[in-house]
Amino acid sequence: MAESCQLLVHNAAAIVDWSADNQTYTALAAKDGKVVALGDSREILANWKPKQTMDAHGGLVVPGLIDAHTHPVFVVGRAEEFDWRAQGVDYLEIAQRGGGILSSVRHVRAASAEELLFHVRRHFQGMRQHGTTALEAKSGYGLSVESELASLKAIQAAADEEGMQVSATFLGGHMIPQEYREQPEDYVDLLCKEMLPAVVEQGIAQAADVFIEEGAFSLVQARRFATCALEHGLQLRIHADQFHELGGVQMAVELGAQSVDHLEALSDSGLEALALSGQTFAGLLPTVPHFLRQKQDAPARKLLQAGVPYFVATDFNPGSSYTPSLPEAAHFARIRLNLTAEEALWGMTEGAAKSLGWSQKGHLRPGADADLLILDLPDLFHFGYAFGENPVRAMVIGGEPLACSS
Ligand SMILES: [Zn+2]
Repeated sequence: MAESCQLLVHNAAAIVDWSADNQTYTALAAKDGKVVALGDSREILANWKPKQTMDAHGGLVVPGLIDAHTHPVFVVGRAEEFDWRAQGVDYLEIAQRGGGILSSVRHVRAASAEELLFHVRRHFQGMRQHGTTALEAKSGYGLSVESELASLKAIQAAADEEGMQVSATFLGGHMIPQEYREQPEDYVDLLCKEMLPAVVEQGIAQAADVFIEEGAFSLVQARRFATCALEHGLQLRIHADQFHELGGVQMAVELGAQSVDHLEALSDSGLEALALSGQTFAGLLPTVPHFLRQKQDAPARKLLQAGVPYFVATDFNPGSSYTPSLPEAAHFARIRLNLTAEEALWGMTEGAAKSLGWSQKGHLRPGADADLLILDLPDLFHFGYAFGENPVRAMVIGGEPLACSS
C-alpha cells in the first residue's frame, strides 16, 4: 500500500541531489518537510500517496539556492556612482565625493526600524524570486551601536516575515565611520567593548565579519576584532584579498574562520594556506569584478584543483554587486571563473550550506530539508548559460510549494 506524504514532485528531466551514486532520478517524495524518497516517476507515484503533487514538466529539479554572502540592509542604491566609474573616477575619489559605503551608512542611520524592515524584506523577496531559499545576511551600513543593532534586528524580522532561513553576520568592521576617521583605534575599541557584547547579548548574529583592505581595516585592527568576536562565541566570515593582499587569508585560516571571501588578489601562499586548512571556505563572488570593471578575478580553478572548499555567492550590495540573482552569479562564475555548470551550482547549494554549517540544506538526499526549485532548463549544462533570464519556474520550501512570479 502507498505511504502518505506531504508532497510528490515527478516528471523532472533530472533531480540534482548531490548524491555520489550517479543515478538519475526523476521524482521525489517529501514528508514532514524532509526528502524521504528519490526514484523514477513511475516508482515514486506507485509508492507514495501525496497531499500535493507537482508535475515538473521535464524541468530540472535542484536544491533551493543558498546565497552565503549578502549585504541586504541598505535603503537606496548608489546608481550615480556607476556613471562616475564610467568616467574613470576611482574608488577613493568616489568616497571623497561622498559616495561609497559611507553614503549607504548615512541613509541607514537616518532610517526608522520600519523603513529598514521594508527594504530588507524587499531585498529578500528579490532574492527569492530568483531561487534563493536560504541565505547569509550581513549588517555593516550602520557602524554605530544603535544602527548595527537595528540592522541585525531588521534582518531577523525580515527573515521571520518572509519565512527565509537566514544566518546573520555582524559586519561592524565594514569601514571606519567618518566620526572615527582620525582615531580608528577608538572605533576598534567600540567594536570590541560595546558592539560585540551588545550583539551577542541579544543573540542576533551567528558570525562576525571584517573588511581587511587599504582604506578599511588593517590586519592588526582586524585581528583584534576577530579575536574579540571568537571570544564572544561568534563564527568568523572575512572579507580579504579583494584589491590588495594584506595577510587576511592567512589570518582567517589561523583563526578557523568559516570563510574568507573575494580573493581576487590571492597569492600562491594564501592559496597554500587555504589548501592546508581544508576547513575555511573560499567565498567566490564573480559578479563583483564585473560590476567594478576590474580585470582580476579570484583564481577559482586553482582553488578547486587544490581541493579548497568553496561557495559562490552574489555579494548583493548597492556599491559593488547590485544583483539578487544567484543564477546570474552562476553565469559569471562560468564565464569569469571558468567553473562548470555543476561546479557553479554546487557552490550555491551544498558548498554554501556547508560553509554555514547547515548539513540538511543544499542537497536533496533523503533526510534533507525539502527546499527545491523546478527550473525551466532541460539539463544541468543550461544552468548559468543564459543571462538576463530567470529560470525559476516553481519553488518549494520545507515541502510546501510557494507561488512564483518568474
Ligand atoms: Zn561583501
